[in-house]
Amino acid sequence: MSKVAILEPIHPAGIAILKRNNFQVIKIKSQKFGNNIKEINDVEGIVLRTFHLKKEILENCKKLKIVSRHGVGYDNVDINFLNKNNIALTITGSANAVSVAEHVMAMFLSLSKISNKTDHLVRSGKFLDRNSLPDFFEIYKKNVLIIGFGRIGKRLSKICLGFESNVFVYDPYIDESIIRKNNCTPIDFNSGIKIADYISLHLPMNKKTKNLITKKEFKLMKKNCILVNTSRGGIINEKDLYWALSNNIIFGSGIDVFETEPPNQKNLLFKLDNVLLSPHSAALTLECKKRMSIEACENLVYFLKEKNKINIKNVVNKKYIDLNI
Ligand code: NAD
Repeated sequence: MSKVAILEPIHPAGIAILKRNNFQVIKIKSQKFGNNIKEINDVEGIVLRTFHLKKEILENCKKLKIVSRHGVGYDNVDINFLNKNNIALTITGSANAVSVAEHVMAMFLSLSKISNKTDHLVRSGKFLDRNSLPDFFEIYKKNVLIIGFGRIGKRLSKICLGFESNVFVYDPYIDESIIRKNNCTPIDFNSGIKIADYISLHLPMNKKTKNLITKKEFKLMKKNCILVNTSRGGIINEKDLYWALSNNIIFGSGIDVFETEPPNQKNLLFKLDNVLLSPHSAALTLECKKRMSIEACENLVYFLKEKNKINIKNVVNKKYIDLNI
């Protein structure tokens, strides 16, 4: 019987698929993680959530054929090691775009309507002081800039168009015709951040995108700009974000991802009331957890048993492995 491991809990719907396909399933809880997880040394597949799967751990997994990411980002696994050792890396490409895009819109709306302040007013018996509230905004007819037009960026554009916003897109790696076909307008980076009332980031973290947004970019933004990051921490420089928010250089920010996760309790952003925070939970709706669990386990089963069924778009390192399909 083939043995597979699940690192950190996933929705039971995926585990049921593995069991139906006669895999022996090892569930590893996060507190057991170290540099050598003996239980996984003889597994053929790993379902991986957010744990950092380092080379030192992978080196001990001599039978490993596939790492199946529960999610789409894969900066927590040593991809060079996987490529060199002919080990497949898959993602759950179609599972989480809806959930993350809705999370962004929730942040856009909540920050625009200063929901934290209106809620506080009512609870503290100051209902009639509503005219003393600072100005708050509509997203209708406003300029939204989406940076990165892949699965999540595209989904967000549909939601924003439903609100009748003008949607601009910066993504130098895709053809402008794709942006136009989706009823959005291509724009260069600096022009985009200058005209945007709302900005949302949907691109991977790498050497080029680290510190993409710093003081220099904040200085170009409108005073009423709302900036949301659900992509990866570090793409916005956190110190500079604190500077921009505490000096009212921009209106507000929604942050789901941090430079260090979990963030330090002394993180300066925690002191501000024009920032809305969430614990890297944009993809954690019940529906999305179930979809990710099913897709991650299906990727693993198809790869190990029925390669012709695998969604090739989900295989990140197809160039480096023998797919034979
Ligand atoms: P995707 O691969 O479908 O799309 C990424 C897009 O970014 C691509 O179109 C690419 O051309 C573009 N891009 C790359 N570099 C760029 C640059 N320098 N400037 C502008 N565009 C650039 O990815 P996706 O599924 O849409 O996910 C986007 C990001 O969201 C990833 O970083 C992923 O890790 C993150 N994510 C976070 C959560 C969460 O829970 N917060 C969940 C899912 C995904």
